[in-house]
Amino acid sequence: AGLVVAMDGPSGSGKSSASRGVARALGLRYLDTGAMYRAITWWMLQQGVDLADPDAIAARAGEPELEIGTDPAAPTVAVGGVDVAGPIRSQEVTAAVSAVSAVPAVRERLVALQRELIGSGDIVVEGRDIGTVVAPGAPVKVYLTASAEARAHRRTAELAGAAAGAPAAAEVEAQQAAMARRDTLDSTRKAAPLAMAADAVELDTTALTLDEVIAEILRLIKE
Ligand code: C5P
Repeated sequence: AGLVVAMDGPSGSGKSSASRGVARALGLRYLDTGAMYRAITWWMLQQGVDLADPDAIAARAGEPELEIGTDPAAPTVAVGGVDVAGPIRSQEVTAAVSAVSAVPAVRERLVALQRELIGSGDIVVEGRDIGTVVAPGAPVKVYLTASAEARAHRRTAELAGAAAGAPAAAEVEAQQAAMARRDTLDSTRKAAPLAMAADAVELDTTALTLDEVIAEILRLIKE
């Protein structure tokens, strides 16, 4: 079977950039499982499902048709033929996704889909439960962390885009609060909470550049 690299960690730890970089360097596919939870959340919002009601979410969890592209140079995500790559990054979806991803019926469906997409491997998979639940047999598992400040800084700069200068301190603080809230929800839920697999390697990216993070992961893969 081909290689599976499991990349887990909290929001803003640099998982996406590092995962894509590693996949591109090695000619592997790339699967962003967070995009799948975001896509299902986008659809639930679109449908007017009451996200305060886990039973209502569970009842509709089987409906949306997800199509996921695994090219690290151009990952794609569509629901029922609609490209949702942009909308799934909205504040509305970001604020709602933890409620949807906490519902076991949603996780069962997406984990099954993720395992299908992983297939025989040759893929870098990023998420919260890849090393623990989705691909517990993955030979390489990385758990990325970074200080709360660094994570908030990165995410704020990312959202502002390349045009902007240094983000305002108030903006970074608001981002940090929003991320802390989401991480608490993700790590305290009953179903597959964010956790480091016992056999994962923890990599603190606070003081590292993206290239350094990628180099370190490539080194772990070669070991
Ligand atoms: O990685 P990203 O921030 O896009 O993930 C969005 C949300 O999807 C997370 O906050 C979490 O609630 C959920 N998620 C999950 N399990 C995964 C990936 C993401 O529960 N494997």
